[in-house]
Amino acid sequence: MAGSNPYPSDLQVSSDDRHYINNIVIKDDVKETEFREKLRASIAKKLKYLEENYDPFKEKYKDVYVGTGGIAMLYFHLANTYVLGDLPLRDKYLQKSLALVQDSLKVIKKCNIAFLHGPAGLYSIGAVAHRKLKHEAESQEYIHLLIDMFGNLVKKKPFPSELLYGHSGYLHSLLFVNHHIPGSIPDGLIKDLVTFILKAGKSAGASLMNCPLSYSWHSKYYIGGAHGMAGIACQLLQVNQDKNPELKPLLISFIEYIISVQKTNGNFPSSIESGHRDTLVQFCHGAPGVLPMLCLAKSHKLGVARLAEATESAADVTWTRGLLTKGHNLCHGVSGNAYAFLSLFRHTHDSKYLRQARAFAEWIMDREDTEGTPDNPFSLFEGLAGELYFLADMIDPMKSAFPCFEIPHN
Ligand SMILES: [Zn+2]
Repeated sequence: MAGSNPYPSDLQVSSDDRHYINNIVIKDDVKETEFREKLRASIAKKLKYLEENYDPFKEKYKDVYVGTGGIAMLYFHLANTYVLGDLPLRDKYLQKSLALVQDSLKVIKKCNIAFLHGPAGLYSIGAVAHRKLKHEAESQEYIHLLIDMFGNLVKKKPFPSELLYGHSGYLHSLLFVNHHIPGSIPDGLIKDLVTFILKAGKSAGASLMNCPLSYSWHSKYYIGGAHGMAGIACQLLQVNQDKNPELKPLLISFIEYIISVQKTNGNFPSSIESGHRDTLVQFCHGAPGVLPMLCLAKSHKLGVARLAEATESAADVTWTRGLLTKGHNLCHGVSGNAYAFLSLFRHTHDSKYLRQARAFAEWIMDREDTEGTPDNPFSLFEGLAGELYFLADMIDPMKSAFPCFEIPHN
C-alpha cells in the first residue's frame, strides 16, 4: 500500500493497523430484491474483471488454495448456485471447471493429500462436476483415484492432521464427494480414516494437558481453522456421528479443551505457544475459523460445557474486529470472517447473524480491495475468486458453506 495514509479517509483503523473500526449500523429494512440484484451485479462485474485479467492456464500454481484448482472450485460453485443464470450457463461453468481440473492434474504434485494442496481437491471437483453433467464413467474414475489416495496417506511420510496439508483435508474431500454423490464413498473408508486421525491425535496426546487429542503442525499446537485443532474438529464433526459413535466422547473433551484456551475477549490464540498475543481475527487464525466448529457442536447437541458463551463471545469479536485491512479474501480477510456469521445463521436461524453477514458483503461490494498487491490476487483463498465465491453464497445463505471447509447443509 502506498502513501502515509493508505486507508480511505472516512475510515478509522485500529491501533495495530489490523482492522477497521466497525462503526456499521445494521439496517433492519434490507430490501431482499434490491440486495440480491446488487449481489448479482457485483458478481457479474468481478467475474468479468477476473476473466479479462487472469489466464488460469498460464498460472504456475495448480492447487485449490491459491492456484487454478481454486478457480475450478469457483466455476463449480457458480454452476451449482445458478447465480448468474439458466441451465446453458450452468453447463458452461461446469465445463470450464473440468477443463481447469484436467489442466491442473497434469502438473500438480501427487504426493500431497489434502483438498487444498494436492490432487484430492481436483479429483473431488472433477467427480462432482462430471456427475452433474451426467458423465458417470468419468465421475467414477475420479472417485476411484480419490479413494486410492488413502494408501498413500497411511504408508508414506507422516502427514500432519490439519486441514491445509493433512489428514483432515483428505477427510474433507471424501465428505464433499459423498455429499454431492451420496453413497459414493464407502462408510468403511471414512471410518478407517477417522480411526487413523484419532490415533494420530492420541499418540501426541500426552503433550497437551487435559486434551484427549493433540495435533501439531511445524512443532506448534495451532488452534484455528487452517492449521489448527478447530479445523480438524470441524471435519470430524461433519462425519456421520451415528456411524462413528467412538467420536462423541473424544470430541466433547477435545472441544472443551479448545474452548478452555479462548481469551476473555472471545478471540482464540493462533497457537498454544503464542501465549498472550492477541492479534489475528481471521479464518486461518482466530475466532472466525473456530466458530463453524462451535456451531456444529451445538447442532449435534454434544453437551459441550460453556459452548453457548464461547460461541457468543467469538461472534462478538469477529464482528468488532472482523473488517480486516488485509483485504476481502477468504483466508485472512473479510469474506472469510463473513462466513462465520453465515454458519451462525444456518445453525441458529437468528437473523442478527444474517444481517451481520450482509453488512460484511456490503462492505466488500462498496469498497475496492485495499490489500495492495497480494501474492495471488485472483486465487480462491487469497484473492478475488474467494470474494466471488462468498458473494455467490449470499444469494441463498441457508445453502452457504465455507469452501473446502464446511459441507453444505442440504
Ligand atoms: Zn490466512
